Amino acid sequence: MKKFIAAIVTITISISLSEASAQFKIGGKSIDAGKLIKASSNVATAVKLSDDDVARLCRESVEWMDANNPVADDTTEYCARLKRLTANIKEVNGIPLNFKVYHVTDINAFACADGSVRVFSSLMDIMDDDELMGVIGHEIGHVAGGHSKAAMKTAYLSSAAVEAAGAAGGVAQQLSESAIADLAVKLTNAQFSQKQESEADEYGFQFAVANGFDPYGPSNALKKLSDMSGGAKASALQKMFSSHPDSQKRSARLKEMADEYTAKTR
Ligand SMILES: [Zn+2]
Repeated sequence: MKKFIAAIVTITISISLSEASAQFKIGGKSIDAGKLIKASSNVATAVKLSDDDVARLCRESVEWMDANNPVADDTTEYCARLKRLTANIKEVNGIPLNFKVYHVTDINAFACADGSVRVFSSLMDIMDDDELMGVIGHEIGHVAGGHSKAAMKTAYLSSAAVEAAGAAGGVAQQLSESAIADLAVKLTNAQFSQKQESEADEYGFQFAVANGFDPYGPSNALKKLSDMSGGAKASALQKMFSSHPDSQKRSARLKEMADEYTAKTR
């Protein structure tokens, strides 16, 4: 299996492939958008992104990632399993969802503001169905909460693509491949705030129970990832969790939700 590729190396991208490969962290600290805008060119201050612009940037970024990662085809067990689990999950807040599996060694999943959900095969390897849907629910929660949209705006404003837009602001009609690659890297490096993670956890929990999955799935998933980050398979996961020591706490909070829910419905 290949590593997840979020980057092609160009002169504008200083992140190495190995470092860029453990992307889409489940937790972490927020990016200071204000600082990024200031650090970027003056052009950025004039940029206004409409919802349509954000959707288009997401679509182009995801298309680029799809083209540069091994997408598991329909005949694979991974695809069949994801299809079965998500058969009834069509949209979030009116945004149609689409699911794909990346056949890669990184343990991860992410969702973009355009409704694209990407699940990595190595995550599927270590999670049972309930845990996996806990993670997927969490990622969809970032879309539902508008976090993914905000992350795209931040990524765009700090990316090379903003230069291409020129003084007119907005988004250039045609972004170069390297600008899209840079944007995808920026997006994959975006981190969510603790508040956003809590909201996504809450959403993921409600998502799990609403769709008939084990209420303990989300907490078990997070605990599993968090336990593994200190274990033998540490490399990718350690990176993934190094920035959020609070994952044990989050798992405990998710377990409390499940306890309460189970007590109420018993
Ligand atoms: Zn998250």
